Amino acid sequence: MEGAGRGRSSPDGGLMETEIWDMIIIGGGPTGVAAGVYAAGQKLRTLVIAEDFGGQSNVSSSIRNWIGVKEISGLELAKMLEDHLRAQEGVEIKQPERVVAVREKSSRTFGIEGCIFEVETESGDVCHSRTVTIASGAKHRELGVPGEEKLKGKGVAYCSTCDAFFYAGKRVAVVGSGNSALETVLDLAINNAREIYLLIRSPQTKGSLTNREKAEQLPQVTVVPNALVTEILGENEVTGVRYKHKEGENIEELSVDGVFVAIGSKPNTEMVRGLVEMSEDGEIFIDHQTAKTSKKGIFAGGDATKTKHKQNNIGAAHGVLAALSAYEYLSNIELHSPCAEREEQEVSGVRPEG
Ligand SMILES: Cc1cc2nc3c(=O)[nH]c(=O)nc-3n(C[C@H](O)[C@H](O)[C@H](O)COP(=O)(O)OP(=O)(O)OC[C@H]3O[C@@H](n4cnc5c(N)ncnc54)[C@H](O)[C@@H]3O)c2cc1C
Repeated sequence: MEGAGRGRSSPDGGLMETEIWDMIIIGGGPTGVAAGVYAAGQKLRTLVIAEDFGGQSNVSSSIRNWIGVKEISGLELAKMLEDHLRAQEGVEIKQPERVVAVREKSSRTFGIEGCIFEVETESGDVCHSRTVTIASGAKHRELGVPGEEKLKGKGVAYCSTCDAFFYAGKRVAVVGSGNSALETVLDLAINNAREIYLLIRSPQTKGSLTNREKAEQLPQVTVVPNALVTEILGENEVTGVRYKHKEGENIEELSVDGVFVAIGSKPNTEMVRGLVEMSEDGEIFIDHQTAKTSKKGIFAGGDATKTKHKQNNIGAAHGVLAALSAYEYLSNIELHSPCAEREEQEVSGVRPEG
């Protein structure tokens, strides 16, 4: 965009030239890539920082609802997303790279209008931008019970697409009641697991009717309702799982070779905690018309946000909104000047007191 580019930074009192991007996008899943493609279309000078391409889709063996494509594997989708992004003029990419913090800086430091955000990566790079789009998605939740940490990769698994084939002929417990748990059951059944115990906290499963019917009718599947897992057993590999009935105190034990934990996901939003408003679970609140967050200049979309349905196409749509809204914001930057009243105050990590 015209007028973007370089500002004068004086972090330690001395003046120096620093690159100022129009837009930094955090994430290389469908949300981040859609934002990148549209940012390029608007001629925004854009930097994408991502740990990988494809995000959560990488573990899907078959995606049948990416619009315009009948069926595609997660790995193929990831490659298509990467190729599409790399073909964009004006978009630079840092990958693999992890963002650890986003901070608001006073634009006065840089001698330009409007707010500037500082984005710090794990390898110690610090980049500056007028806008940031959070497209960092989500990762699986953990049970947090004894034995889980110790036995990760030794029978405790989180991705059936990746690991179900190890359990042909074996006894397995699946923990969770939603679609991801039901899909885990189906993956294990396709891979010939001998016995599958579905341990659910609720009285009944909660996924889509199709998944529930398919999974629960399989002869090798036993649904255990109202079950709270208390421990995963084993020394060097999983040998069993302990659980108690929700209402009672009796501890039950199942002898199994593996435990698949499928209890949902947790947004990757630690880097902006305190900077933008989010739910207790860390889902960023956005305006669904614009992908704006509570902080001017910061946009967000996809699984990192409070969105009822978490899907690839929805993430991509949010990414488009974020880029177009960022363009509008940058076109009117003098109207926003979010740092003007804050001057030198910096906000990072934690919510400021008062
Ligand atoms: C097993 C499984 C099957 C699914 N099947 C389907 C399906 O069939 N159809 C469908 O529509 N949806 C499906 N989904 C949901 C879909 O994968 C998500 O809705 C979608 O991936 C969200 O896209 P996203 O870009 O918001 O986040 P993600 O795909 O999670 O991507 C996040 C990106 O951010 C990066 N990142 C994270 N933290 C940082 C950081 N700190 N610094 C830098 N980069 C970071 C990641 O590396 C990644 O590139 C499935 C999900 C799972 C887990």
